[in-house]
Amino acid sequence: MISPEKTIEQLLDFDREHIWHPYTSMINPLQVYPVAAARGVEIELMDGRVLVDGMSSWWSAIHGYNHPILNEAIYDQTARFAHIMFGGLTHEPAVNLSKLLVEITPPGLNKVFLADSGSVSVEVAMKMAMQYFYSIGKKDKNRFVTIKSGYHGDTFHAMSVCDPVTGMHQIYSDVLPKYYFAARPEVKFNEEWDDKDIQPLQELIEKNHAKLCALILEPVVQGAGGMRFYHPQYLRSARALCDEYDILLIADEIATGLGRSGKLFASEYARISTDILCLGKTLTGGYMTLAATLCNDKVAEGLSTGEPGVLMHGPTYMGNPLACH
Ligand code: PMP
Repeated sequence: MISPEKTIEQLLDFDREHIWHPYTSMINPLQVYPVAAARGVEIELMDGRVLVDGMSSWWSAIHGYNHPILNEAIYDQTARFAHIMFGGLTHEPAVNLSKLLVEITPPGLNKVFLADSGSVSVEVAMKMAMQYFYSIGKKDKNRFVTIKSGYHGDTFHAMSVCDPVTGMHQIYSDVLPKYYFAARPEVKFNEEWDDKDIQPLQELIEKNHAKLCALILEPVVQGAGGMRFYHPQYLRSARALCDEYDILLIADEIATGLGRSGKLFASEYARISTDILCLGKTLTGGYMTLAATLCNDKVAEGLSTGEPGVLMHGPTYMGNPLACH
């Protein structure tokens, strides 16, 4: 029989030689720790050590690991069907989840696209915004504006609106679209509001609105960009600017949504709704990958009435029933 120490060693040897981990080198990878089990806030390593997880697997395992109700939901749905394509078919898990999302998200966000990861939900949000203006005949409005220190995912278009320095834009600068970056908000969450904070964004929008389809930002908390909590008035003023200049507002609440900022949605601090909203991470309690892009009727109807009349996106695992249930 192979000793437990030998098993761990073999596993780590293979891992080091063959498996990519997030943001690591394949020749000099960061150390990884093999996990045997996880429950509540604890992660038990294969060598018997127990860790307390202070970041809930990148802010996703909101109810803790190995939750009996979530386990039961997965067993229950697995026995019915683990997956079925969403093209031409639907199912109760997707309908029930979408009904709940329409109910609890800020008012007006009535249409739900079930995507398969946070980055993909951002891609979908950006496509929705571009396609909306294309469809209503304003084809020049196809550029994005965002704020520095933001993070929206690792796929190409999501990357194009991540902070240009920490997002490593320079490596991909030849192929990434060039979008507009306003200085990041500086007035902190609890500080006294100063109108000067919105000026850089205001100036960019005033100058370029004819080309802009959407402003994308993380409401109130810039997460991966350094846990920066900014003043909700920034968001309220940004909403007003978008309304004034016919620009859609996309809230990326993949990190903040579903209770992670103290309110159910960070947009609630500013008492605003956005035109498009991205959710992910905690959506499955950290059990499976699933994300959602919600939009309001204006976007959905605008996009669907002109050319091409359909949203051009449909991943294989869209609306995966195990993840939705
Ligand atoms: N947007 C935000 C605000 C995020 O924090 C993240 C993930 N850290 C993403 C998008 C990307 O999500 P995913 O890793 O699921 O693709």
